Amino acid sequence: MTNKISFKDLRLNPSIQKAITKQGYTTPTPIQAKSIPDLLEGRDLIGIAQTGTGKTAAFTLPILNLIKPSYPKKIKTLVVAPTRELAAQIGVSFSKYAEFLKVKHTVIFGGVKQGKQVQELSKGVDILVATPGRLLDLMNQRHISLKDVEFFVLDEADRMLDMGFINDIKKIIKKLPHKRQSLFFSATMSNEVNELAKKLLNNPIHVEITPQATTVEKIDQHIFFVDQNKKTKLLLELLDEEEVTSTLIFTRTKHRANKIAKFLNENNIKANAIHGNKTQNARTKAIQNFKKGRVKVLVATDIAARGIDIDKISHVINFELPNEPESYVHRIGRTARAGNKGVAFSFCSAEERNYLRNIERLIKQNIPVEDHQYHSIAAKTAKGADAKPPPRKQRQPRKFKRGIKPKPKNNSRGKRPRSNNNNNNNNNSNNNVNNKRNRTRKKPRNKPFSRKNS
Ligand code: AMP
Repeated sequence: MTNKISFKDLRLNPSIQKAITKQGYTTPTPIQAKSIPDLLEGRDLIGIAQTGTGKTAAFTLPILNLIKPSYPKKIKTLVVAPTRELAAQIGVSFSKYAEFLKVKHTVIFGGVKQGKQVQELSKGVDILVATPGRLLDLMNQRHISLKDVEFFVLDEADRMLDMGFINDIKKIIKKLPHKRQSLFFSATMSNEVNELAKKLLNNPIHVEITPQATTVEKIDQHIFFVDQNKKTKLLLELLDEEEVTSTLIFTRTKHRANKIAKFLNENNIKANAIHGNKTQNARTKAIQNFKKGRVKVLVATDIAARGIDIDKISHVINFELPNEPESYVHRIGRTARAGNKGVAFSFCSAEERNYLRNIERLIKQNIPVEDHQYHSIAAKTAKGADAKPPPRKQRQPRKFKRGIKPKPKNNSRGKRPRSNNNNNNNNNSNNNVNNKRNRTRKKPRNKPFSRKNS
């Protein structure tokens, strides 16, 4: 990719140029250079790119350039994002880039009371950033009309599908005017994502930014082969190192995220956990505490960490490797932001050995192995059945006490499903449900901190 273009060449209006200069950006990132000219021409776009590539500016800048606010204000731009954090980050981007424009935006998401959001909407906005659930709620209550939308952005479409938002998205799309410019972003491409893109886009330009070429190369990655029951000891030692100043730790499950945060606090390391079971206020507070350096460690699950844009994360630690290799790239991309360097440490126990093989295949490189006092040869050399998680015993949901039958999952009412796709949900502790044999086992196992030997 020749990236000789400067922001001046993109013909953005002077107020936007001024905001870009204020941010200290000199050169457009590859996704910005590739998409902004066509977006300014009014083309639809499908962008395959992760966060960390500058994709938010790739769509916010041309929209701000094209949008013509009306009086009274009407929602002319709608951006839909899967998580509250991502929606909030997009809102921050609009604030930054529209600083010298007379364009008003607001962000709405669930998990908080709707009153303030409704109040903001009633004052009139040009740009609305929303998560699907709250958007539909407020549309149904007639606080929002999409009939004037000219620009529609669907961000992180793959994650949207993973989280079970497909029907919500379809309902939203139905309410959009036919004449509009649509932008569609996804970190990965699957048949389902492709189907959705086809429904939404009209003769789109394709822009694909491979994570290997952008994020991964900048990150100093290390693998620690370690038995599951030694991971916490190793973690404490790593967090004790001087250069480890601000660390984002990833776990596969919410439960484990809580456990680690608790464990670290008990060991005098200030840590907060964020995941889908936490209230929006708790999540915002945890992120603020982390950003301001009041806590050194944030422990997160994959979905909760989406959209976290914190420039100064010195280290990402994968306490557990993700079962989807793409998530590894997402996770480590939380460090090395905004031109900073970043370090990613990944713990790999025997049962995660195959996950590591898949990750190395995806990123097309072998991650250097660290020598350390808990080094596990068994983890390093694990093959076959030893290299993957043991068949999972049936677990009752933790919220229910033993003996009390959990309610059957029924998604027709009440809470939206977190996932409708077992293959893709890396934030769900019941990933291995396809092993029928195990469904029949009755006794839930204890809640061990580590899977092995406990
Ligand atoms: P995103 O992929 O949109 O989450 O952006 C990742 C980070 O890159 C954010 O912190 C942006 O502020 C930053 N960024 C976006 N565009 C540029 C640019 N052209 N030059 C430098 N940093 C940028």
